[in-house]
Amino acid sequence: MIQNGLHHRSCPLCEGMCGITVTVEGGRAASVRANRQDVWSQGHICPKGTTLGTLHHDPDRLRTPMVRDGNAWKSASWEAAFERLEMLVGGVRNRHGPHAFAAYGGNMAGKDTTLSRYSGLMLATSGIQQIYSSGTVDQHPKNLSAMLMFGNEWKIPIPDLDNTDLFIIFGGNPAASKGSIFSHRDVMGAMRDLRARGGRVIVVDPVRTQTARSADQWIGLRPGSDAAFMLGVAHVLFARDAVRLRHLEGLVEGLESLRDIVGGFSPQSVAAHCGIEAMIIEDLAEELICTERSAIYGRIGTCTQSFGTLASWMIDVLAILTGNLDRRGGSMWSRPVAPLVDMLSMLPAGMPIVMGKSRVRGVPAVLGQFPASCMAEEIATPGPGQIKGLLTFGANPALSAPDSGRLVQALPLLECMVSLDNYLNETTRHAHVILPSPSLLESEHFDMWSWVFCLTSGGHYSPPVFPATGRPEHWRVVTRVGAIIGGQPNADVEAMDDGYFRGLATAHGIDEDMAIEALPERGPTRILDLAIRTGPFGDRFGTLSNGLTLESFRDKPDGLIIAPAIPRAIEGFKTPSGKIEIAPALILSDIHRLEQAVRTNDSSLVLVSRRHLRSLNSWMHNIDTLVKGKERCTLQMHSTDAATHGLVNGEMVALSSVAGEIVVPLETNDDIRPGVVSMPHGWGHGDPQTRLGVAQAHAGSNTNILSPGTMVDVISGNAVLNGIPVRVTKADLPSGNEFGAAI
Ligand code: SF4
Repeated sequence: MIQNGLHHRSCPLCEGMCGITVTVEGGRAASVRANRQDVWSQGHICPKGTTLGTLHHDPDRLRTPMVRDGNAWKSASWEAAFERLEMLVGGVRNRHGPHAFAAYGGNMAGKDTTLSRYSGLMLATSGIQQIYSSGTVDQHPKNLSAMLMFGNEWKIPIPDLDNTDLFIIFGGNPAASKGSIFSHRDVMGAMRDLRARGGRVIVVDPVRTQTARSADQWIGLRPGSDAAFMLGVAHVLFARDAVRLRHLEGLVEGLESLRDIVGGFSPQSVAAHCGIEAMIIEDLAEELICTERSAIYGRIGTCTQSFGTLASWMIDVLAILTGNLDRRGGSMWSRPVAPLVDMLSMLPAGMPIVMGKSRVRGVPAVLGQFPASCMAEEIATPGPGQIKGLLTFGANPALSAPDSGRLVQALPLLECMVSLDNYLNETTRHAHVILPSPSLLESEHFDMWSWVFCLTSGGHYSPPVFPATGRPEHWRVVTRVGAIIGGQPNADVEAMDDGYFRGLATAHGIDEDMAIEALPERGPTRILDLAIRTGPFGDRFGTLSNGLTLESFRDKPDGLIIAPAIPRAIEGFKTPSGKIEIAPALILSDIHRLEQAVRTNDSSLVLVSRRHLRSLNSWMHNIDTLVKGKERCTLQMHSTDAATHGLVNGEMVALSSVAGEIVVPLETNDDIRPGVVSMPHGWGHGDPQTRLGVAQAHAGSNTNILSPGTMVDVISGNAVLNGIPVRVTKADLPSGNEFGAAI
C-alpha cells in the first residue's frame, strides 16, 4: 500500500549519497528535495537527485517483461518471458555448448539493491566465463593498482579532504561528478573550506573545468601524460632526499626498485611530453615537500588513458613517498559498516590477477574480466568459442563501451540476448528478452557501494517508497536467470539463496545454521544484515554487545554516523610480501612503453571526454528537466585551434578517428588546452528502435564510436577514452542527419 507523506531516504545515483525527502501525494512522488536533517549530507543535493520521482513515473520505464519477435516488442507475463528465455538458452547450449555465453554488467548494477548483492550468485550459477563490465571502461586501472600494491582491488585510498593542507586532483571534476570513487557530502564546499583555512587546491587536467576554476592553480597537462608528470615529481623527491615514509617505515616493499625507475624521469625529460614547463613539476614537488599534509585524488582522466595503471599507481606512490598514506589529512582507507565488496569480491581467493587469453585478440583477463573493447570482436568473429548468448545487467554498452559502432553491428548476431534493465534502450533493443528491475523508489536502499569510498563510517537504510506489486521479488528473477543460463531451469531458487547465504556466513566465520535461524527471510535484506553484523562494527550475531545490526538503522530515517576513519596499515596487507608493494613487477613492466611515449612526443589533436552535473553516463537523458536547455553534446575546442582549422563557433563539424566519424556542433571554449578537444559521453540516442521519447528528442552523438577498441591501457585492458587522436573538419551533412549521428 502506498503511504502518502514524507519519505526520507538517500539518493542512490552516485557516491554523494545525499539524503532526500520524497513527498508522496495521491500515490505519486510529488517532489524530491534535500533532507536537511540527513546526518551525512546535511542538505546537499544536485539536480539529478530531484528527478527520482520523475524517473519512477517515466512512462517509458518498463514495468513488465518484454519479449521481441523480429522487430516487434510485446509485453509478456513473467512466466512467458522465462519460457522464452529457457527456449533460447536451450538452443544456444545445444548448438554451441555451455560456454557460448558472456555477460556485461554496467554501473547501474552497483546501484540496484538486488543486482549489487546477487550478480555474483547469478554469474556463478550461469557458468559464464567471459565477463565484461563498465569497470574496464572507467576504473579498472585503479582496481589493478590497488590489488597489486595493497592486496585488495577495493582497498583504494580516499583523500581526507576535510583535514588536509593541500588537495591535488588529477583528471577529476567533482563540480560535475560530485566525487567519483570518493564519497564526500560536498567536495566543492570542502575545497572552499580548505582554502579558507589557508590550504591550497591544485587541479591537473587538460581542461580548466569548473573544479579547476575553483582551485588555486590549474596545470593543463597534455592528456595521457599524468604518469610521466608524477614520475617527474617522484624524481625530485628522491633527488632532494625528501622521501619520508614516516609511520610507513618498515611497511613498504620495493622502494629501491622505485628509486631506480624514477631516476629516468627527470622533470626536464618529461616536460615536453606533458606539454608544460619542467619548473611546474619541480614546484609541485617542492610544495609536497613543504606541506605537512597533502591528499592526492585521481579519477576518470587518470584511468581512461593509455597509461591508466601507471597513473593510478603513481597517485598512491606519491602519497607513500610523502608519508601521507594512511594518515589523517592524507589518504586513508574506509571502514564501511556493510563491506559489500569484501564480501562479494569479483576475484575469488587464489585466482590469478592476470589469466587466460581472449580468443580473438589474445589479451588476458585482468581481475577476472576481459576488456569491454573485446566484446564486439568476440561476438562477430566466427569460430569455436564465439559468443552466441549475452546477458547484460544495468548496462548500455551500445553507447558507453569503446568502439561502440562495432558493438552495435555485432549485437544482432547473437542467438540469445537477455537484459536485466528498466529501459528499451540502445543496447536492450537488441535483446530477445528484457526483464525489468523494480524502480529505485520501489527498492529498499542501503548504499553498500558508496560507503566503501567514504572516510566516515555510517549508514542509511531506506525502505521502498512504493510497493513493487505484480512481479516476483527481484532476487528470484536474478537467481533464476543465472540458473536458466547455467542449464538448470528448474532449480530451486530458494534453496540456491539459502546456500548462497550459508556460504557467505561461513566465509565470515559465522555458524551457518545459527545465521539462517537468526535471519530466515530470504532476499537482499538478509545479505545486508549479514554484512552489517559481520562488518567492523557488527554484533557478530549477538557475540559483541552494542554491535550493529540492520535493526540499528531501521528507525533512523536521517541516517546514522558511526565513526571517522582510522589508520589501517597496521592490519597488514594481502600482498606477497605482506607489506605495501610500492613497485609491483606487473606495473613496472609498462614503464618501457611510457619511456617510448615520452621520447616520441606525439602532438596530434586529441579527444578527451567530459562530464556534466545533469548527466550520468547514458542513464538520465530521458528526463526532460535534465536535458532541456542549451545543447550540451558539443565538441569543445580552443578558439585558436578553431581558427587554425577554419571553423567557427556553432557550426556543425565532422569529428573522426580511426574508429569512426560523427557530426557534432562546435563550441569554442578557451578553458580547454590548445591541441585538445572534448565531448561528453553517453549520448547518441537517435536509434528509432528504442523507447526513450525524451532522449530521442535530445539525441546528441555517441563519442564512443570514436574510441578504437584496440586502444587500451595495456596492463589493465581499460579503454582509452582520453587522448584519442582525432581530426576535425567542416561537416558535409548528409540530408536528414539532424542528430549528428554516426555516418
Ligand atoms: S550528488 Fe549524487 S547522490 Fe546527491 S543528489 Fe546528486 S546524484 Fe544523488
